[in-house]
Amino acid sequence: MNRLLLAPVLFVSIAAASPPVLPAATSAPVAAALTPSSVTPPVKPAIIPAPKAKGPKLVEPHLHVIRSGLKARPRIALTFDACMGKADDRILSALVSERIPATIFVTARWLKHNPQALKVMLDNPDLFELENHGQNHIPAVDKPVSIYGIASAGSPEAVRQEVQGGADAMLASGVPAPHWFRGSTAKYDLSSIAQIRAMGYRIAGYSVNGDGGSLLGAAVTEKRIASAKDGDVVISHINQPTHAAGEGVAKAILDLKARGVEFVRLQDVEDTGDDQTTQ
Ligand SMILES: [Zn+2]
Repeated sequence: MNRLLLAPVLFVSIAAASPPVLPAATSAPVAAALTPSSVTPPVKPAIIPAPKAKGPKLVEPHLHVIRSGLKARPRIALTFDACMGKADDRILSALVSERIPATIFVTARWLKHNPQALKVMLDNPDLFELENHGQNHIPAVDKPVSIYGIASAGSPEAVRQEVQGGADAMLASGVPAPHWFRGSTAKYDLSSIAQIRAMGYRIAGYSVNGDGGSLLGAAVTEKRIASAKDGDVVISHINQPTHAAGEGVAKAILDLKARGVEFVRLQDVEDTGDDQTTQ
């Protein structure tokens, strides 16, 4: 029994000496003498903490537009991301028929596959401000990291390409030059924020997450967006026509209009973003 009690100490020291190597393989001769249950537990604490310490510090900046200060006419900016995929006509047609202005963040990928929706937006310049959501929908973080399972750009050069590639595609599609950038996942590290600002962009955070990445149900989405307050910037998605969330977005737009909301685009009003995104 004494041998079994000593075994965990032995395993920890082996694992600590060579973290990347699988301890089970390194210590095979010893392990063979032990039962599986006495082998497994000591391995975990020695290995798991190592990779966690490395990632860059990420921020998800807030953005507000200047308040109207009028209770009966709160000011709200609706922003929509067109990441990739298709166009959600439930939302697009509601915006057009109700004459509601909005800011749409488009990627090069989305533009390529949605010429019809783009035409609707370009045909209504009084409603739609189009801004830059990047070239390939890669998080604009200049160090390697995985965010929601998406690999970041990983270097300043790749961040530059993501931002510039998005702008180039917009110009090639007949869209006016963008002044705002919002990266995939809306997360950044501080050095990538500085870099994108130096390229001449304001960076669009948000203050109300309307649709939870288009993954929420219709009722929850409607409630979240409809509860937006004076000065809020709402983010949701206009590229998931098969998701229930879009139904909630379309309904919430009507709710807000019925409340007397003044809808503004980012180019129309002053705004304040944190993490040095607009200052
Ligand atoms: Zn996106």
